[in-house]
Amino acid sequence: MIVIMKKGSSGQEIADILDRLAQMGFTGHLSQGVERTVIGVVGQTYPDLKDTLELLPGVDEIVPISKPYKLSSREFQPADTVIEVGGVRIGGDQMVVIAGPCAVETEEQVLETARAVKRMGADILRGGAFKPSTSPYQFRGLGEDGLKILGRAREETGLPVITEVMTPRDVDLVCRYSDILQVGARNMQNFMLLDEVGKCDRPVMLKRGMAATVQEWLLSADYILSGGNRQVMLCERGIRTFETYTRNTMDVSAIPLVKRLSHLPVLGDPSHGTGKWYLVQPMAMAAVAAGADGLMIEVHPTPDAALKDGSQSLTFDNFEQLMSQIGAIAASVGRRMVGRAQVEAGR
Ligand code: PEP
Ligand code: MN
Repeated sequence: MIVIMKKGSSGQEIADILDRLAQMGFTGHLSQGVERTVIGVVGQTYPDLKDTLELLPGVDEIVPISKPYKLSSREFQPADTVIEVGGVRIGGDQMVVIAGPCAVETEEQVLETARAVKRMGADILRGGAFKPSTSPYQFRGLGEDGLKILGRAREETGLPVITEVMTPRDVDLVCRYSDILQVGARNMQNFMLLDEVGKCDRPVMLKRGMAATVQEWLLSADYILSGGNRQVMLCERGIRTFETYTRNTMDVSAIPLVKRLSHLPVLGDPSHGTGKWYLVQPMAMAAVAAGADGLMIEVHPTPDAALKDGSQSLTFDNFEQLMSQIGAIAASVGRRMVGRAQVEAGR
């Protein structure tokens, strides 16, 4: 349920309610919007609780949240969440582009890619140092050495970095190097990992599980939010269907759907969403048209020689083409592409 505070309620009244909730064994999650201040009450609530809370000073009304997910719902927070990382704003009126290789392979490969995608207007650099791999015989990432390479790329280009964390054990380590933590599709329901990233102070990008419903996805987001970390963004990366021509079926409709249900930013990943480099650009355009707050695109200097996901990785030329094509679409749906605009202004 949510406690809606009266307009003009005092800081003391809010603090008293949070204290009272804590005494009763609940966690109160404060959301102070322009229009109203609400406190989300999470835990095993019971009907009498409504009567108790209604009597407290400063309370306007108590409203149940109808959805099973609570903190990620628009009922809890009507206004969009905007996440700020290294000068980049994710959510709101911007459309951010995250680009880079699937996996960190060598320093040269990452630096070359980072320079290229920055030159073309990407906002954030991606690259996996811990790679989830269907086969144990495939490349599984460079681990901490890979994180160090990402750190050097960030230093040189100024681009914030996102990389995947696969286990609760590595959360502190990845936080030392990365601006954003990525929870991959295979770990969307690794609840111990969600709890752990919920306790840290880094934004988290939660990818949709390959067989997850939208409701399950949002419940997973609630795990992170209820741990206290409010900087959560979602990423649609395709779901498993009977189709075999594509690696996954990119569920573009999930983007406007989730934006309706939730205040969290939603990004689209047409690289994993299709598995084919020649489908990445059209599906990137579709995702932007559908209202995505950002894109995640795999880019490699030589996709043919990539250790991972080469078939869905764009060359620098193809990435440049994608960037120039999505600009017009972003503008037509009222989105600004800040990195791209800076590049164009400097030309
Ligand atoms: C990735 O981003 O490289 C990745 C492994 O994605 P997903 O978890 O969506 O498969
Ligand atoms: Mn990949």
